[in-house]
Amino acid sequence: MSIFRCRECGRINRIAANSSESRTPHCGHCKADLDTSGAPQDVNAKALRKAIANSPVPILLDIWAPWCGPCRMVAPVLEEVGKERASDLMILKLNSDENQQMSGSLKVSGIPTMIVFKGGKESDRQSGAMNKSGLDSWLSSRV
Ligand SMILES: [Zn+2]
Repeated sequence: MSIFRCRECGRINRIAANSSESRTPHCGHCKADLDTSGAPQDVNAKALRKAIANSPVPILLDIWAPWCGPCRMVAPVLEEVGKERASDLMILKLNSDENQQMSGSLKVSGIPTMIVFKGGKESDRQSGAMNKSGLDSWLSSRV
C-alpha cells in the first residue's frame, strides 16, 4: 500500500502497491490525476493541518521563503529525497511569508526549518540547510 496526497484537494489516497495498472491513478475524492512521483507539494496552513491529522505516513515539512538562499539550496535535495521515498514519506512545503501565523504557531525562528510529523504530532525538527547525505542521515533515524 502506498500513500499519495492529492495536489488538488489534499485528500490522502491509498494505492495498492501491487497495482498492475499502467494508467495514472486518480484521486478518490476529486478524480484529479494523482502525482505519485513523491515530489514535494506546496501547502497552506489549512492544508497542512489536514495532512498532519490524516497522514498515515510521516510528513517532512520544509518551511521556507522565496528570498532565503539556503532554502533554495535545500529545494533540489528535497525533490530527490521525495522521489526516493515516494510512497512512505510525504514532503510538504510551507511558505513562511504567506503563512506567518502558522509559522508562528509552529515556533519557527529561522528558515529553512524542517519538521517531521508522525501520528499527528511533531517528532523532531532541524533548522538550517542540509545536503543530501545530511538529510538522509537525519531522516534515517526518524522516519
Ligand atoms: Zn483530490
